[in-house]
Amino acid sequence: MKCRLCNRFFNLEDSFSFLFRFPEICPDCTENFKPNLKTEVIPINGGVINYHYLYEKNLSFLQKTYLERHNKIFFKMMQKAENSDETVILIDDGLLHDLKNWAQLIFSLGDVTIYSLQYHDLSYVNFLD
Ligand SMILES: [Zn+2]
Repeated sequence: MKCRLCNRFFNLEDSFSFLFRFPEICPDCTENFKPNLKTEVIPINGGVINYHYLYEKNLSFLQKTYLERHNKIFFKMMQKAENSDETVILIDDGLLHDLKNWAQLIFSLGDVTIYSLQYHDLSYVNFLD
């Protein structure tokens, strides 16, 4: 079997459990790419940004594409906070690219929750002014 994250071939001991389901990622990647929810709190005018992310390390495009399945963690958190009037933003590389342009518009609304798969240093955006 070829791991979908590191592209290396791997073998697992034969087992009846693999008759109907083949593992897509190797044991090393299973361990190294466990989602680990972390939160950073950033003060802004009139509130805070709760920034949640799952991976601190840089991910390749291939890894991001595969690991996006863990975004369901964020969707469950959104469901729990369904009735709050927080602004929720799920950022990806495209949205991050022009974050400086729209940040001032959004962050004047109050508390904001940002989700992203991979950690991005948001300190370059001046949220206080
Ligand atoms: Zn692997």
